[in-house]
Amino acid sequence: MINEKAVVLLEQIIKDKYKNVKLDNKVFNEEEFYYEFKIDEKISENDFESLEKEINKLDNNCFVKILRISGVYYNGDANNEMIDRISGRAFESKEELDKFLEFLEELKERDHRKIGKDLDLFCFSDYVGAGLPLYTPRGTIVKDELQKEIERVCRRYGFQKVSCPSLADISLFETSGHAMKFNDELFRVESPKGHKYVLKPVQCPHHTQIYASKLRSYRDLPIRYMESDKQYRAELQGAVGGLSRVYAITVEDGHSFCTREQVKQEVMNICNLIKDFYSNMGLYDVFWVSLSVRDYEHPEKYIGSQEDWDICENMLAEICEELGLNAKRCEGEAALYGPKIDFMFKDELGRKIQIPTVQLDFAMPKRFGLSYIDENGEKQVPVMVHRAVLGSYERFIMLLLEQFKGVLPIWLSPVQVNIIPVNVKYHDEYCKKIYDLLLSEDIRVEYDNSKENMGKKIRQSNIMKNPITLILGNNERDNNLISYRKYGSEETYSISIDEFVKFIKDEIRKR
Ligand SMILES: [Zn+2]
Repeated sequence: MINEKAVVLLEQIIKDKYKNVKLDNKVFNEEEFYYEFKIDEKISENDFESLEKEINKLDNNCFVKILRISGVYYNGDANNEMIDRISGRAFESKEELDKFLEFLEELKERDHRKIGKDLDLFCFSDYVGAGLPLYTPRGTIVKDELQKEIERVCRRYGFQKVSCPSLADISLFETSGHAMKFNDELFRVESPKGHKYVLKPVQCPHHTQIYASKLRSYRDLPIRYMESDKQYRAELQGAVGGLSRVYAITVEDGHSFCTREQVKQEVMNICNLIKDFYSNMGLYDVFWVSLSVRDYEHPEKYIGSQEDWDICENMLAEICEELGLNAKRCEGEAALYGPKIDFMFKDELGRKIQIPTVQLDFAMPKRFGLSYIDENGEKQVPVMVHRAVLGSYERFIMLLLEQFKGVLPIWLSPVQVNIIPVNVKYHDEYCKKIYDLLLSEDIRVEYDNSKENMGKKIRQSNIMKNPITLILGNNERDNNLISYRKYGSEETYSISIDEFVKFIKDEIRKR
């Protein structure tokens, strides 16, 4: 493997160059290679190019791009010394290397942190703290529209919206088992008045208590709750960055409570829901599925009986089979309380991201003493199906921005129509009239009446990736017309005001 060859050459060069190489270690896989070591000198990014050249000099069939140098603990153990790690990627030809360099450029261009800033969607503040994203008015629109869309689809599959507080007594999570699982990831909240609470790391335990608030009959089931709300996880300090790792995540979460007989149908129901939502987003083609089962060597990592686990795993395997999901079995990837089906996504840049998930749980309903009355008037324990479709809004928005390079579909766009006058002196009144009209039609519209010239305003509208830009001048004003351009096109279309309102509404309705 070429990465192996490269890391051996890198080791040789480092050892030739520096006297005191200690604690060194070579790692490689198909994606990357790392060389870890400790030396007295300091290596910086400025040395990368010469290292790359030297590797190629030793073997002219090995083309390398050094990606980064970082500090890591020896053997990954925080009690050990910090050492340096050089990471890179090797190729067998100059062409392959060039292609990879192009890919890196693309990566920079698609970086959601950059796009998020350019499009004014979210920000961070040192006062508020790291890992706590703030959505701007424009970003909040994107988030709210996503929420409306996911809730619209979920309602069709029988989900009802619920709303729970962020705080809960620790006993809730002790009973659910999350206190054990998330132990050092829990935010514990205390007040001078003696309150002791936990910020919720998940919503499931809260939802069990809404279920438990009434006597349930088999005829009521399945009962399905959904909620998009903040969850809090105390990630390692320093590990947070951009929207990919944050302390406060907004999670689209849902739970179905059903009988054992209904489980199969319910899981299928949710798989279809996932398909619906992601097809509308134009993302369904890029998924594959993993059947995540327990780690058979470490049963102590999970709650629930072995017998229930066997039943659940078999059930999910059958469902995957029946739906033709072509699932890959992954041992040790199960949730705390049961096995799951994970939908894995490969983004435009070839990176693997897991978002939608369906999880079977026989354990939590038992721990909370949940029940329903069956046909014979007897008490039974329901099964809980956990599911996330959109998952974390932060991660989903990041994915959308990177996937579509910030060009959002019109229904999701913070501004749908941007109005530019040819000359603000002569066309202000007409522009205002159109602005008011579109606003009254619930279209998200902006009017650029700044002092800049028209050309600059059009460029700015493109930078903000506004889907539709109107350019209104004498002709439009005198004939009650609208002239518009679509994002990414130089072509201008002119139509009547009524036609335009109909056109724009149709465009927004399209998913
Ligand atoms: Zn859950």
